[in-house]
Amino acid sequence: MRVTVLGCSGGWPAAGRPCSGYLLEAGGRQVWLDAGTGTMPELLRHTTLADLDAVWISHLHPDHCSDLFGAFQALKYGNARDDRLPVYGPPRWASAFEAFAGPATGVFEVHELVDGGRVDLGPLQLEAVFVPHVLPTFGVRASADGKVFGYTADYEPGADLSRFADVDLLLAEAWRSADAVAALGVRAVITHVHPDLDPLEVAGDMEAAAPGMVISM
Ligand SMILES: [Zn+2]
Repeated sequence: MRVTVLGCSGGWPAAGRPCSGYLLEAGGRQVWLDAGTGTMPELLRHTTLADLDAVWISHLHPDHCSDLFGAFQALKYGNARDDRLPVYGPPRWASAFEAFAGPATGVFEVHELVDGGRVDLGPLQLEAVFVPHVLPTFGVRASADGKVFGYTADYEPGADLSRFADVDLLLAEAWRSADAVAALGVRAVITHVHPDLDPLEVAGDMEAAAPGMVISM
């Protein structure tokens, strides 16, 4: 299992620093995990929209989903893919999207996440983990090759992270709560740090995500 950091800025992008977006690869499957601002051009350095098996939108804050609009345009007006791209997102994500961009169902295969819901991609299994945040938000537990990868997505300090306590690697959007992640005792990479903060300082003794970083497990 391998995760490529497409972007890791929290809140808003900075020069050369897109927002949250990660390419998860395992067993020949590829998932674009959050389509934050600026991550689609980075995604296309590594794969194509046609090769993606799914897109996972944790929640509807722009720093996690705004590049879904770019994918929509490429699929609708270009020849990026013949079939619909499966997109998993929070309840009613498609209607929110359509308020900006028009009907999405001809371009996207619309799936809504529920807590504990599973997505079967053959050798790669995904499980939604609800996390408390301003908007309905779903992190993920991804299992493949006997390994488990966890992604917290954005969450409020004080959230119960115990469902990530057994993972082999945790990608944690913990810019406000790194101590709680450290307490889990798992290998953790801290991401989603606001551009005006120092990621290394926030991460402390843990690893800090950086654009282009590849994490293997
Ligand atoms: Zn958020």
